[in-house]
Amino acid sequence: MEIEALHKLFLECSALSTDTRKIEKGSMFVAIKGEKFNANTFAAEALQKGASYVVIDDEAYYIDQRTILVKDGLNALQELAKYHRQFLNIPIISLTGSNGKTTTKELIHVVLSKKFKTKATVGNLNNHIGVPLTLLSFTQETEIGIVEMGANHQKEIAFLCEIAQPDYGYITNFGKAHLEGFGGVEGVIKGKSEMYSYLKSTDKIAFVNLDDVIQAEKTAEFKRFTFAKETTAVDVKIDAIEANPFVTVTYEATSIKSNLIGIYNANNLNAALAMGIYFKIPIVEIQEALEGYVPENNRSQLLTKGSNQIILDAYNANPSSMAAAIDNFLQLDLTNKYLILGDMFELGDESALEHKKLVQKLASQSEATCFFVGKAFYENQFSQDNIKFFETFDTFAAYFKSHLPSNASLLIKGSRGMALERTLELL
Ligand code: ATP
Ligand code: MG
Repeated sequence: MEIEALHKLFLECSALSTDTRKIEKGSMFVAIKGEKFNANTFAAEALQKGASYVVIDDEAYYIDQRTILVKDGLNALQELAKYHRQFLNIPIISLTGSNGKTTTKELIHVVLSKKFKTKATVGNLNNHIGVPLTLLSFTQETEIGIVEMGANHQKEIAFLCEIAQPDYGYITNFGKAHLEGFGGVEGVIKGKSEMYSYLKSTDKIAFVNLDDVIQAEKTAEFKRFTFAKETTAVDVKIDAIEANPFVTVTYEATSIKSNLIGIYNANNLNAALAMGIYFKIPIVEIQEALEGYVPENNRSQLLTKGSNQIILDAYNANPSSMAAAIDNFLQLDLTNKYLILGDMFELGDESALEHKKLVQKLASQSEATCFFVGKAFYENQFSQDNIKFFETFDTFAAYFKSHLPSNASLLIKGSRGMALERTLELL
């Protein structure tokens, strides 16, 4: 079927989904073959659950006239999203970077929602399937769209920009994440900069933190809207940043007291603030939006368990977010500090070195007791009073249960696969 005809049918539908568990009445189901399953087999179920149309790519699963046969389900989804983008006459803001995309996306979302009917990526749906789904969730009522773009290899951001065709772009940072697929930090910079290439080639606008020297340089010739604390001659000059432990940023006479922990969140807040200013939202409303935002999903949450205070940041970890979280924690004015750190995944060839560097860094300080959990950290094990290594979460749990801290401050951080939030159940 031609994409134009498919789009006409899509517009008749209430929503689009690739997951029969979430199918809504009157929606369109698109079957996408995964490695482990063939979604064509769910087409009949989707119709039973009330889908108006099912898009499949294997004629063996044809049901009736509500079945739309395409060559490839994933490609059809992407083409449909691209076509839908032409049809939406709205500004789209795209976000990428190594860390802080989701947090920044949510902050921008609450700020822009003060004035516009804003839609944004749901959760972390930021890949070659998530980005099309995000675009297809934007309707004629939507006034601004925000699209998070994730990548773990080259050309991915370029591809996602072709689909979303953003008018504005922001790169949170160039850090050490997904080193495996990108080929080191240089590769990360190159890969994420594909968003800049897109903006430049289409004469669109970049939001840029000018305190980040590499980003400032890379966008020197761009149309851009800038913010910074240290650099002068910017559009939005941040006057002060504090973190104890919640981050406060001050712009002109307004201090915005966030519910976010970790000094790195200042950049995320500043970006959302700058976009609010750009889109002419009154500062009091920007303040209200940012102060009202409370993070979810294990992202830098402050919790209390018994006599212990916990910073739970167990959603994910890579060398740059780990360093940012640890530095922030160590400088906080707290006593009896514990670091519970889990392995960092997806680092490829750099894994051994990055884990070793972190162990060395923490071995040279005596302010905190460190528990390293996971195989990659365990490779570096040695004996020191304030440092312990555990190969698995279970061995850590067994030890921890019989040595529970009290009146302590704990930072808990590791890759998603380590699921270190399980530590809370032990306390
Ligand atoms: P993902 O790759 O999983 O989509 P993300 O880029 O969306 O991640 P978030 O989920 O917002 O990032 O934040 C993940 C973690 O990254 C945070 O819990 C924090 O430890 C760290 N982080 C957040 N913002 C920054 C930043 N600006 N610089 C460095 N580290 C950050
Ligand atoms: Mg994310």
